[in-house]
Formats: sequence, structure tokens, C-alpha cells
Amino acid sequence: MGWNIFNQVANFCRKLLNNSSDTCSTEDIKLKVITRAEHSVSRAQISDNALKVLYRLHNSGYDAFLVGGGVRDILLGKEPKDFDVATNATPEQIRKLFRNCRLIGRRFRLAHILFGRDVIEVATFRGHHADEEPSKKNVSAQSKEGMLLRDNVYGNVDEDAQRRDFTINAMYYNIADYSIHDYANGIQDLKNGVIRMIGDPETRYREDPVRMLRAARFAAKLDMTISNSTASPMLELSTLLQDIPAARLFEESLKLLQAGDGIATYQLLRKHNLFQQLFPQVSDQFTEDNSSNTEKMLDLVLNSTDRRINSGKRVNPAFMFAAILWYPLTIKAEELMKELNLNYYDAMMEAGNRILDSQVKHLAIPRRFTATIRDIWQLQLRLPRRNGKRAFALFEQQKFRAGFDFLEMRGKLELGQTKELALWWNEFQKVETPEKQKMVSALGGGRSNYKRRKPNFRNKKPDNRT
Ligand code: ATP
Ligand code: MG
Repeated sequence: MGWNIFNQVANFCRKLLNNSSDTCSTEDIKLKVITRAEHSVSRAQISDNALKVLYRLHNSGYDAFLVGGGVRDILLGKEPKDFDVATNATPEQIRKLFRNCRLIGRRFRLAHILFGRDVIEVATFRGHHADEEPSKKNVSAQSKEGMLLRDNVYGNVDEDAQRRDFTINAMYYNIADYSIHDYANGIQDLKNGVIRMIGDPETRYREDPVRMLRAARFAAKLDMTISNSTASPMLELSTLLQDIPAARLFEESLKLLQAGDGIATYQLLRKHNLFQQLFPQVSDQFTEDNSSNTEKMLDLVLNSTDRRINSGKRVNPAFMFAAILWYPLTIKAEELMKELNLNYYDAMMEAGNRILDSQVKHLAIPRRFTATIRDIWQLQLRLPRRNGKRAFALFEQQKFRAGFDFLEMRGKLELGQTKELALWWNEFQKVETPEKQKMVSALGGGRSNYKRRKPNFRNKKPDNRT
């Protein structure tokens, strides 16, 4: 009881705090140095590869800081996903220091130091964008709408802090003396659980609309609240995401939905009209009370993806995309059956093409995934046809497992025949071959004895070439 009241008061204070000191203007950016004795980040929590990079830069006379998620997550007692380094060395100077270095990015040029599969991202401090001469277009460029097309103006660490997105991402761990440079009161926001944009949120979203997605991602992942002024421009500016290249949005979509907090992230994205920009065909089916099959499928697949990731299992993005788009697909197929007088199978094939063609304009889902998405969808049409040797042949298909898991998930929503079919296939996988044959015989019709027939060449066209 007492604890409950304490929690309510704490929550109330948190909200008050969130509202009162809501913005972080550039005047609020002041360096606060937290000495090694005053914070909990130790080198033991930083990967050896990140330390190697930090020390090499430092020993070569450059500034070298760990920044972003590496500092933030360690302070929260979490294991960082990756380590990002910031330095005053230019990309060319970084390249000279590391043999295993690749320079990447045009919009935002940075260095990747490769250690096998582990990548340490090293960014040169960014500075302010003055009105650049036209000759410097490869350094700095901005669209009419305020979007930064090039962000390669270099500066010092103080300026760099102002170019970071959120206060909790602008904490720098200095390898020179193990202190943390907190520029935007990030430590305080971390304690209060607030995602707060540095500078004017609207301007910062116009510079890079992906920051809206990042706000939702961090709020969901870290279980934090987006401050009012940081959240409020989103509804109006969400459509700016349409100007972001589909390849970048695809990469972001994986970080949003395939990183263990997919369901919470989706709910926040949806609340701020951001999910709608990424999956318009899906959001067309959204209802007030979350009652459409499309919405129920989203809940199912995102929850199960989160569970798999959090128990260390692998996930295939194709499975998630196939599920998210399944009911928009079946609705489209029904329309096409009427419109073009197609049979169900052809309508599903055509609907699959149209749904994917339209989706990849927003998120550039690579071909290797769209191929699997089609396989999973096609298996949904084939799994009901189990007569004769078909069940055995399907069982041997490479994508059978994904197709079956998908069917099982549909069964949970559609019940009836779909659920029965999923139960049948579940049983079929468990039993030995004679039982399998009995199961097929019990369906009636067709040959049940599974033997691979020799290829039948009778129908082969005669070779007329001379
Ligand atoms: P995580 O790696 O856990 O997803 P992160 O905060 O490290 O989170 P990264 O994408 O690795 O995120 O970026 C590293 C840092 O670079 C961020 O913490 C932030 O300071 C800065 N940053 C990244 N993207 C942007 C952006 N679009 N606008 C401004 N700053 C950014
Ligand atoms: Mg990072």
C-alpha cells in the first residue's frame, strides 16, 4: 500500500518534471564533467575492440570519446548493442591509423573499423552548418524543407554535442581520463526516464525525420517517456518520412521491430502516426478498437518475435513481414477476384505482387527476403492440399517449417478450418511414416502411398531443333 502511494507520487513528479523543463535549447548545452569516481562506467564494460580504437586515436594525439548507446546503456546497467566512437580526427586521418578501416556514407561520412563481424563506428565531430558556398555542396547540403542532405561539416566536441539527437545520447566517455562529458543534462534525463530532443524538435525533425522513429525506438526499448515538446511535432511532421530513402527506412524498420521490443515500439509508432508512414497498406486496416485481423496478427507476430529474440533464438525478418502483410494481401486478393474475375490462386499471386511492389516503395525489403515472403504465402495455398503424395512432398520443402509456423499463427486468429489444418500438420510432423500414410488416407481421395515416381517424360515436347 505504502509502496503504491510512493510509486504514484514518483510518477506524478516524473510527469511534472517532464513538463516543466521540457525543452533543451542550445543555450542549455553546457559541459558538465563527471569524474571517474562519480560514475559507474568502467573499461571492463567496454569491448576490447572499442578500447583498441579509443586508445589508438588517443595515443596518436586525437580526442577519443565513447558516445551514444555505449555510454547510455552502460549507465543504465544494460549491455550496449554496439560501440560508437567520436573523435576530432577526420575520416582520412582515421583511415591512415587503421588498416581495417572502411569509409562509408555520403550523407553522413564516417569510418567503420572492422574486427571480423564486429564493427566500431567512428564519427568525426560534427559542426554547425553555416550558409555554405555552392562549392561545398559535398560537405553540407539542405533541401528546401530543411532536410540535411549532407552532414559533413566538422567541428569540435562542444559543437558535436549539439548535433546529437537526444540528451541521453550526448554523453561522452573520455578515454584520456575516464570522465564523462555530459553536455545536455543527459544523466538527469536518464534518471528521470525522459527522451528529450536537443535543440528545437521541429527543426531537428525537419533536418532528419528518422529522428522521430529513433525517439519511439529509445522510448520503447528503455521504457522511457518522450517529453511533450519532443513528441508534439510528430503527428504533423510524420509524413516527412516519405522523403527518406526506402533503403534507410528498411534498415530502421529492423531496428524498430526486430530488436526485442517490437510490440512496444509498434504501439508507440502507431500512436505518433509513424507506423502508418512505413506500412500504409497495413494501417489502412487499422480500427479504433484494434479488432481487425491485421492488427491482431501484428500483435501476435511482434509478441512472438520479441519472445524469440529475448530467449536468444534467431528470427527471420521475412517471416515478420509476411505476417504483417498477410491480411492486407487476402483483402487485396478478394478485390482482384471480383475486379479481374480471377480464381483464388491467381488472385493471391497477383495480390502478392501488388502488395510487395507497393511496400518496397516505402521500405526497400531486399529480394532475398521478398522471395521468402512469397514462399511462405504460397505455402499457405498449398498446405491444405495434402492428398496423395502431396503432404510428403510439402514436408520436404525447404520453407516448410516457416510455412507451418505461419499457418499455426493464422490458426490462432482464424480458428475453424485453419486451426484444424494447423493441428493436422502438427500431428503429421510428430508421427512415423506409416502413421503419416494413414493420416493422408483418412483424408480420402488420391494415392496415399508415398513413393517418388520416376520423372514422367511423356509430356515432354519433342525436340524439334535441327
Ligand atoms: P543503439 O546503437 O543502441 O541503437 P545509439 O544511440 O548508439 O543506439 P546509433 O544509431 O548507434 O544509436 O548512433 C550513435 C549515436 O549517434 C547516437 O547515440 C546519437 O548521439 C548519434 N546519432 C545517430 N543517429 C542520429 C541522428 N539521426 N541524428 C542525430 N544524432 C544521431
Ligand atoms: Mg550505437
